[in-house]
Amino acid sequence: MSIFKPKRFPFGNRIHGTKLSKKSPTETIPAPEKVYISVSQHIGAPAIPVVNIGDRVKKGTLIAEASGAISANVYSSVSGTVSDIRDIVNGLNQRQKHIIIDNDFTGEEEFLPPMPDFEPQSIVERIRLAGIVGLGGAGFPTAAKLTPKTHLDTLIINGAECEPYLTCDYRLMIERTQEIYKGIKYVARALKVANIVIGIEINKPLAIKAFSEFSDLKVVALKKQYPMGSEKHLIYVCTGRKVPVGKMPFDVGCCVQNIKTVLAVFDAIENNRPLTETHITVSGHGIKNQKNLCAPIGTPFSSLIEYCGGKTENAKKIVAGGPMMGKALVSLNQFVRKTDSGLLCLTDTETSTDKPTNCINCGLCARKCPMRLMPMYIESFAMSGNFKEAERYGALNCVECGLCAYNCPARRALVQSISMAKAKIKEMKNGK
Ligand code: SF4
Ligand code: SF4
Repeated sequence: MSIFKPKRFPFGNRIHGTKLSKKSPTETIPAPEKVYISVSQHIGAPAIPVVNIGDRVKKGTLIAEASGAISANVYSSVSGTVSDIRDIVNGLNQRQKHIIIDNDFTGEEEFLPPMPDFEPQSIVERIRLAGIVGLGGAGFPTAAKLTPKTHLDTLIINGAECEPYLTCDYRLMIERTQEIYKGIKYVARALKVANIVIGIEINKPLAIKAFSEFSDLKVVALKKQYPMGSEKHLIYVCTGRKVPVGKMPFDVGCCVQNIKTVLAVFDAIENNRPLTETHITVSGHGIKNQKNLCAPIGTPFSSLIEYCGGKTENAKKIVAGGPMMGKALVSLNQFVRKTDSGLLCLTDTETSTDKPTNCINCGLCARKCPMRLMPMYIESFAMSGNFKEAERYGALNCVECGLCAYNCPARRALVQSISMAKAKIKEMKNGK
């Protein structure tokens, strides 16, 4: 048993928040009558549909193929018939192509071919084939992350789950410990690394205990500090290595993987199952029953809400993700994606309805920023369209943790502005 002392990183802060669904075991929600599966559930190029309207599919049939190294396959999450393929503007105001499948409730399933062997290259190929992406929210294709150009020596498993409300990773860590452990070992084998660290927040003692049983894993108990789950901060706390500005984890010999991702790796390798479902916490005081769900990809958010007993009368805001990094929905036209971890129904008391006021130059956002940025200036440059200056002030280093906005007494929408600036800067760099 090896549990390392609780550690912390400079800056960041403790945030208030509760984990209402911590004691709710994971439940598998019945598949809905129709699933709406986006072909853009990952970072990179959208997948290209390989089915046509009227085609019959099974659960696990490939319906859209990766269109490059940074892209990911997409599989049907139900058996049935493709009834439409069209653009849908989702609840996050994003226009994306969706493949719509009418469920025939036969539950027929198609599997990936058996593994030829368990060599590193075969493991990476299986992960690519199964359409696995970073399920912590980033959505970066996992196979690409496991083939770095530099030598790595450490695999870090992110068990922080530091956002308030979210508990699906925690439940998996205590309910499916062995499968997660095996998934971790496959990823370590693919990377050819022996040094494996799992970081788990100190407020999850059952999970810490469960993983401390494995002598070949180092368990690092993480202080309750936000944003502990950010890759760069987790690497620093687990290894003492600092990822320089503009560099990536592999530049310091590390690869970070999420709990749900390694579980999906296990399922793809041992059960020959592609990625067709994800785990999501439905929580907030605006929902009648807070739960941790395993849901088919493409399930309407409205079905999740209905399964949890519906919204309360005082529910005011629906958020996809956690309260810090999640995004408020403009409509309920939203469908479960691979990367979803949370669906929150928040009441007045859980969300601010104050209108933003002028910046009072208090400097609190800069003092709290874990990336040592000056969010008030970046926001101001973003709002005036001066994206060059926003870049000079480090906009691209923002990890969108939301701490600046959380602490701002003027309720400025800092993260939205910085996020918009990042998108514009990237467009400029790509010559658009
Ligand atoms: S500027 Fe970015 S990294 Fe800094 S606190 Fe705000 S959201 Fe987090
Ligand atoms: S915390 Fe808000 S009010 Fe204070 S400097 Fe930052 S943006 Fe301005």
